[in-house]
Amino acid sequence: MSQTSFDIQQAAVIGAGTMGRGIVMCLANAGIAVQWVDNNPQMLEQALGNVAQTYAHYVRQGRIDQVEADARLARISAAADYPAIRNVDLVIEAVYENLALKQKIFRELDGLLKPEALLASNTSALDIDAIAAATKRPSQVLGLHFFSPAHIMKLLEIVRGAQTSPAALEAALVLGKRMGKVSVVSGNCHGFIGNRMLHPYVLEARKMLLEGAYPQQVDTVLQGFGFAMGPFRMYDVVGIDLEWRARELAGKGQDAPEVQVDNRLCEMGRFGQKSGNGYYHYEPGSRQAEHDPEVDALILSVSEGLGFQRREIGSEEILERCLLALVNEGAKILQEGIAESAHDIDQVYLNGYGFPANRGGPMAWADDQGLADIHKRLLALETRQGDQWRPAPLIGELAARGKGFYL
Ligand code: NAD
Repeated sequence: MSQTSFDIQQAAVIGAGTMGRGIVMCLANAGIAVQWVDNNPQMLEQALGNVAQTYAHYVRQGRIDQVEADARLARISAAADYPAIRNVDLVIEAVYENLALKQKIFRELDGLLKPEALLASNTSALDIDAIAAATKRPSQVLGLHFFSPAHIMKLLEIVRGAQTSPAALEAALVLGKRMGKVSVVSGNCHGFIGNRMLHPYVLEARKMLLEGAYPQQVDTVLQGFGFAMGPFRMYDVVGIDLEWRARELAGKGQDAPEVQVDNRLCEMGRFGQKSGNGYYHYEPGSRQAEHDPEVDALILSVSEGLGFQRREIGSEEILERCLLALVNEGAKILQEGIAESAHDIDQVYLNGYGFPANRGGPMAWADDQGLADIHKRLLALETRQGDQWRPAPLIGELAARGKGFYL
């Protein structure tokens, strides 16, 4: 297949929710004509209005002029159904996080689109190979994982499936560049690079709530380290209900002790910033996270109900557990070849997760500490808290040779 057949001139986006809106703007801003499909016509209409408002806002701010705003808007059009988008070079799907639904859409599109067209999913964690398997063109299927809000966040994780062709990957990298993104290629695993590492990090933060800490305390320590947001403020922004609903849908994970606080918050309708209450309280129209004693009382009751003997948790322990959880998972990701380099992992954390720029990313931070030291600290945690802290073999190997992740 010739390189020119992958030149992306026309694209389509499926889904006009939070992510679809940002992705459509990324494409239109890069000069790409984009057709937009959503099975809920009201949602699509609302989304088109929303995009127009965003561009009008940019004009008022002087970031672009009216001519540019009009040109961007003119590149975006609503499409009634899938046959209407049959000539595009690329489709980016951003519907609900549900494998069966995504497979159904990919199967249908595969039957309609020209053979060289690329099919991408914005899934946060699902198996790209399982999505590709629904098509007869697995070499043309890949993940394009944008971060919210997609038109602002710099990071793009490009997920390579087992059969994704080098030409398809190359086309995605070129597209990333055109959109002004920092692109990082990730192998296919649950959560890819960023969300896979986020899981053990957030798990530690949640466990500490049950053991004796409070959200504001954990967030203050991590923000003191330089993170743009601590984990609980981040969940309030993202929406605590997303994972709650996903656990409900999947029919698993809802009983784990560490999600009991989330569950109770969601049962009370405290979904985060969007509902005015989450781990924090928000005054109407404000994004200022305010300490809420009701949440502290809830945490106390959940953790006591689960039989925890609460204890004082110091700042050092909060930092140690959250950062080492990131580094250890990062090392596994590197060793498995999911990430091509420590630098790639750091790019993901710096551009997608608010890791402090002056620390260089979790892997660079670990190198600064010295991997022999990191190894010792992980072993100490393993002794105190169990198997989940067993150091990734790569850390021991590099430490023994006096090396770091970068050197
Ligand atoms: P959303 O709920 O805001 O929007 C989903 C949209 O898909 C809705 O407008 C819905 O009407 C539409 N839709 C549902 N079924 C459809 C179908 N069969 N055909 C056409 N349209 C359909 O969801 P979102 O937050 O934008 O997430 C979309 C995807 O992006 C998910 O896979 C999610 O995991 C992923 N993602 C989300 C975030 C985030 O922060 N929200 C970040 C990265 C990736």
